[in-house]
Formats: sequence, structure tokens, C-alpha cells
Amino acid sequence: MKPYYNQNYMREETLEGDIIMLERKIFCDECRNDVNYIVENAEMRGTLKGETYTYSGKIACCIDCNSEVYVDKINDYNLKVLYDKYREKQ
Ligand SMILES: [Zn+2]
Repeated sequence: MKPYYNQNYMREETLEGDIIMLERKIFCDECRNDVNYIVENAEMRGTLKGETYTYSGKIACCIDCNSEVYVDKINDYNLKVLYDKYREKQ
């Protein structure tokens, strides 16, 4: 499978591994600060065209307070997995 992301801060192994620590800082609402975050696999649910799908997505968590933080690339990744699930069913 071709890796979906190949940017410098999100390498192929990032999306394959279980828990990966990223150097890139992201703003955490709880900490009110730029923090490092880890990426974990998570069972996600998404609704597409009226159907709910369960898929294995990713969440990013602040290293300091463990709150989920919003990361564009993680969000994009989850959407892609959700769409793949959707297409599988067609
Ligand atoms: Zn935090």
C-alpha cells in the first residue's frame, strides 16, 4: 500500500506504528501552549451518506495533559480511512 503521507513530519512509519511521538509542536487548548503530541490508534466512528462506519483511525494527544489535540493531518488521515471503508462497501 502506498503511504498516504510523505511529509517530513509525518513519515510512513508514523501511520503504521502504534504509538509514535512527534517532534512537531501543536497548540493544546488545555495547556494554552505549544506542546508535543503522540499519535495513537483509535477505534473511530464516522457517518457518511447516512451510514455509520467503524474504522481504525488515529488520534493525537497532548504529551503534557493527555487531552486530544486537533491535527489537520490526523483528521485528513481519518477521513481517508473512512472513505476507503465507504468505497469498500460499494
Ligand atoms: Zn495539553
